[in-house]
Amino acid sequence: MRTSNWILTAALLVTISAAAQQATDSQPPAQPQTTDAPQTAQPSQQPAPAPAQQPAPAATQPAPAATIAPPATVAAPTTMDQVVNLFIEREHGLIKALSTRTPVVETYLQNLTADPQLGPVPSEDHYFLGRLDMGENIDRKDYLKEQEKTMQQRLLGGFQKLYKVQYQPMGFSWMVYADRTDFDREHYDFRYVRREFLGDVRCLVFDVTPKPKSGRGRFLGRLWVEDQGFNIVRLNGTYYPAPRNSYFFHMDSWRLNLIPGYWVPSFIYSEEGDFSAGVKSKVAFKAQTRIWGYDLKKGGKDDELTNIRVDSVQDNSATAQDASPLQAERVWQQQAEDNVVERLTSAGLLAPEGDVDRILQTVVNNLEVTNNIDLPRPVRTRVLLTAPLETFSVGNTIVISRGLVDVLPDEASLAAVLSHELAHIVLGHNLGSKFAFNDRMLFSDDATYQNLGFKHIPEEETAADKKAVELLKNSPYAQKLDNVGLFLKALQQRAGSLNALLTTHLGNPLAEGGQVNRLLALSTQGPALDNSKLDQIAALPLGGRVKVNPWDDKVEMVKTAPVAITSARDKMPFEVTPFFPRLSRYGGNAPAAAPSTAANSTPNQGTN
Ligand SMILES: [Zn+2]
Repeated sequence: MRTSNWILTAALLVTISAAAQQATDSQPPAQPQTTDAPQTAQPSQQPAPAPAQQPAPAATQPAPAATIAPPATVAAPTTMDQVVNLFIEREHGLIKALSTRTPVVETYLQNLTADPQLGPVPSEDHYFLGRLDMGENIDRKDYLKEQEKTMQQRLLGGFQKLYKVQYQPMGFSWMVYADRTDFDREHYDFRYVRREFLGDVRCLVFDVTPKPKSGRGRFLGRLWVEDQGFNIVRLNGTYYPAPRNSYFFHMDSWRLNLIPGYWVPSFIYSEEGDFSAGVKSKVAFKAQTRIWGYDLKKGGKDDELTNIRVDSVQDNSATAQDASPLQAERVWQQQAEDNVVERLTSAGLLAPEGDVDRILQTVVNNLEVTNNIDLPRPVRTRVLLTAPLETFSVGNTIVISRGLVDVLPDEASLAAVLSHELAHIVLGHNLGSKFAFNDRMLFSDDATYQNLGFKHIPEEETAADKKAVELLKNSPYAQKLDNVGLFLKALQQRAGSLNALLTTHLGNPLAEGGQVNRLLALSTQGPALDNSKLDQIAALPLGGRVKVNPWDDKVEMVKTAPVAITSARDKMPFEVTPFFPRLSRYGGNAPAAAPSTAANSTPNQGTN
């Protein structure tokens, strides 16, 4: 019996991971966004940010539309019964439309423990990353092979072979869809509740209950259906009934209108546990699952040695002269850099170049200019789409993870983490020139972490940190290094319990063994960390800054109005929070009225 418990748990955990991915616009309500930090630097970047929440501004439309034909328009229903028929049909249409897709799925889960001052805080964490095959036999390929073993041990306490359960199709279909196989009137009762706006989108709300004897693991909860195409845009609830002695996780699953006519599963928040007096939760956690990369080339069997797209390097170089040895070396490095950037992008790990890069580049530029750094090639930046906190550089490209951009409290802290990579570049710590050989790019997407890596030796790390502090002290951020110190202190405070978030997959870790090791010289700078000081924001929750478009992987900065912090519990440094996106329709043909549903104050600009 115990066994079956574990099986279920495993399946669900997996589910979460499967489902997990990205919130394009996750906007947790309580984001303590005290400063606009990163943005301040570059005024230039703000002007033309893509449409806030919704992925596909007019400009971006062409591509996706080509691959999935929009459903035929339906006659307006006149009864709720017809509405139910319509959204059931649309759900089946969605399952079919996405069946050829293999998006990236990421789940980041924090187990919780009760802290008298801060409330539930993370005690440990888990991370899953893979590709989800949304076809008939929903399957997943893991990016984190080397961690699989320890993961299963941690999750299942030794019931190792049960971990396999996570690959069961049912496990994955949960939470992504209400019910992959039997979403119909034979298995469910639907009850209309009311109308409600989610963001810009007017929805019809239905309660859904499985019919008696319709089997286990049926969806039980609430659906939001938009009132034009009658697609489900949000699912909130659990699955029922659970087998004896086990339970299903609760979930809140959001979809975005990323392509015409379809609302695509994009992110899922799950939470379990109760910390009220007298209740002792056996399992308490919160987890964010983000899905992105829907438009990635499918990595199939014929494609094990994928990526013929390693069409390297534009050789525009001058033909008039031969390259000097030094020039040859530089071209070689650039070739490696271009190969890696392109390969990471096609694996769904790197965002295409975009608005966020302009912000990052402004900060890098500030460091360069004030330090009279003049490199033969400009420094570029890119955003790694994953949550774990990491930076690395390949040639002259600095890469910073979405999770790290999210948690940094201000521009000075952003400058600090970028300065470490800039220092590597300035010091000539070139890595990865071996990737100039194109055969080294020939691996399947899920083997990316086994084939690419950009870790420096400890001596180079030390040298880069030293140089970074030097760069910072000459920079416009010199007067704000106290904030960097505070961030490092906050990181140190949580380092012991956030092992998964601090485990890097390509670059050097910011902390190891519970000990922060990045920019230590700045870690004593500034005031002491004091949770009770409400104006001291040392680090932000995850998900507060960077939005990813799950269809095309483009990233942009979240725009939120500051929300007042009223207690230490509002700070939630490095923590997972619920998603609360402001929904809007593809292309922005939304009904004008947009009563605020919550949290997100993002103006729906760029649309229309
Ligand atoms: Zn480094």
